[in-house]
Amino acid sequence: MALNLNALRPVEAIRAAALAFNKALRIPVRWRVAERIPSASRYLSQKNRAQHVLLLEDINEGRFKRKRGEFLCKARITNPAAHERLNVSDIDADKSKRVKVSCQKCLEIARKRWQ
Ligand SMILES: [Zn+2]
Repeated sequence: MALNLNALRPVEAIRAAALAFNKALRIPVRWRVAERIPSASRYLSQKNRAQHVLLLEDINEGRFKRKRGEFLCKARITNPAAHERLNVSDIDADKSKRVKVSCQKCLEIARKRWQ
């Protein structure tokens, strides 16, 4: 049976759209898309599962400062060890951007500062 290439296209189109969307944010340092990691005792609500901008380098623009490993919106990191191990990694940073940033706060900050 022939491989149905048409079936792949929607996924690729969604990825391409997400890559373009994320690229338009013009964040001036290395970053990736990441979710908050819940503390061991509880799951994150759907609302808290937003896709954030996670910074992989420090930002130091006068009064606007962020450290490597922080979310752009400063979402609370409740499980620092797991966050460091699972989220703060350069390795699949490019791959992570196949998913759109969905955190409204991250988007608002990025658009106000760098567009
Ligand atoms: Zn965020």
